[in-house]
Amino acid sequence: MSHSNTLNNLKFNNRYLQALPADPETDNHRRQVLDAGYSFVNPTPVSNPSLVAVSPEVAELIGLDLTECESAEFTQVFAGNKLLEGMQPYALCYGGHQFGNWAGQLGDGRAINLGEVITPQGTQQTLQLKGAGPTPYSRMADGLAVLRSSVREFLCSEAMHHLGVPTTRALSLILTGEEVRRDMFYDGRPAMEPGAIVCRVSPSFTRFGSFEIFASRGDTVNLKKLADHTIQSNFSHLLSSNKTPDKDTYLAWFSEVCDRTAEMIVHWMRVGFVHGVMNTDNMSILGETIDYGPYGWLEDYNPGWTPNTTDKQERRYRYGDQPKIAHWNLFQLANAIYPLIKDEDALHEILDDYGLRYQQRWQTMRAEKLGLNTFEPDTDTALNHDLHTLLQQTETDMTLFYRHLAGIPADDMLDDDALIAPLIPAFYTPDTLPDNHLANLAMWCRQYQQRIQQDGTDDATRRTRMHAVNPKYVLRNYMAQLAIDAADEGDYGVIHELLDVLRHPYDEQSEHAKYAAKRPDWARSRAGCSMLSCSS
Ligand code: AMP
Ligand code: MG
Repeated sequence: MSHSNTLNNLKFNNRYLQALPADPETDNHRRQVLDAGYSFVNPTPVSNPSLVAVSPEVAELIGLDLTECESAEFTQVFAGNKLLEGMQPYALCYGGHQFGNWAGQLGDGRAINLGEVITPQGTQQTLQLKGAGPTPYSRMADGLAVLRSSVREFLCSEAMHHLGVPTTRALSLILTGEEVRRDMFYDGRPAMEPGAIVCRVSPSFTRFGSFEIFASRGDTVNLKKLADHTIQSNFSHLLSSNKTPDKDTYLAWFSEVCDRTAEMIVHWMRVGFVHGVMNTDNMSILGETIDYGPYGWLEDYNPGWTPNTTDKQERRYRYGDQPKIAHWNLFQLANAIYPLIKDEDALHEILDDYGLRYQQRWQTMRAEKLGLNTFEPDTDTALNHDLHTLLQQTETDMTLFYRHLAGIPADDMLDDDALIAPLIPAFYTPDTLPDNHLANLAMWCRQYQQRIQQDGTDDATRRTRMHAVNPKYVLRNYMAQLAIDAADEGDYGVIHELLDVLRHPYDEQSEHAKYAAKRPDWARSRAGCSMLSCSS
């Protein structure tokens, strides 16, 4: 019989379940779970599931034909109604620092892992349902998710991947056919919303908080088991021939986690992504973007912006502070794994290095965004600083600005008006810009021209290079809302259209130009488009 990529051919190897002890209690009630890495728990069956969308690339990644994804069985499995052979559903135990404070046990309150599938490439990917019912970690909440937040998670995971940003993936988006009560504005006026389930996919859903929970309980035995398992399954290149991690392995691993985290944040800064809830339980040990909640995309360039209404006062997780917060989170991880290493100086050295490594990566990213071969600190520190000052002086769309910057020629024969003409579409109020702002922008462009002349790349090559790092299409907050509004009316066309456009974010795709436009006025103050609550 020839091998086909069907559901029944999926093979599972649930390594995590072997590596850590299970919670001996199997009854599904809320509790503190000690001395265990997870609790077995089944998804809650739903009455009338229907498939809304599938990511073809993720289906292929795990070894499923697209036709198989259209089967009734696929919907049953990824709605949590049916288990495939080899699936052993479980929820992870983890803790975390939320908004700067230790929050104790959190855990998968509405995520249920189905198992680790062996991909056609021989790697392993964990399949996880989000919104499939309560678990022992659900605390006061219901374990469910609504359509609007699930649309946002599904689309953004895939958009980020295609932008080249490390992220968990999303296989499917399914309506449960059931309603969920949510107080979206936290104003005491709850309403019923359609329930939905996203199947997320990643080599590991272990978070910084997974280590913190063991450390906080003085459980060094399980702390070591988790660290060893993580290294053996996701960082095996760090192991010497004897396969047993030692102090040097742990340090090399922590250093790589710092590196990957720095890399992820530099990508966020490049594309204008604001996570919104950078608590340590939302930091992946793999350096992937995880847990898409009240995230947002910068429209006008404003380092102080966060979309999360829960963080409105302090704005702890604002765009411009993400690199600093990542460092704070890495410090918490260092504290948690200290018992395995017992060398404060060595950990401090790696943490101190984060700043330097972040800066180097940031400089490379800045050079790429400006189309330069290298970052020359003597000129480019000021060039970038001046640009960031200018971008904040009047509402300027970050994505459009960089995309159009590629249209500035190296040749300095143009007068001011002609020179800055390509950039005008990036302004939100182009008709009322003060003259001195335009003059300052022209002055900056002349410095930029000098720099690109010195750099020596021809205009066409520079343009191609810039277009490969400055996306034309990102999942602007209002775009996700358009998809949600249509879905609420039973029309999933916009979800499919956006999934398709965002698959090629650097391509011109002129037929989709309407999605490369500034935020429309109606979206300026509408909930979901400018500010989001954590209600999901
Ligand atoms: P988040 O801020 O979404 O990362 O969630 C923080 C914690 O709350 C995690 O432990 C989640 O599993 C849990 N949580 C969030 N929403 C729900 C829900 N509707 N039901 C149960 N647990 C939830
Ligand atoms: Mg979370």
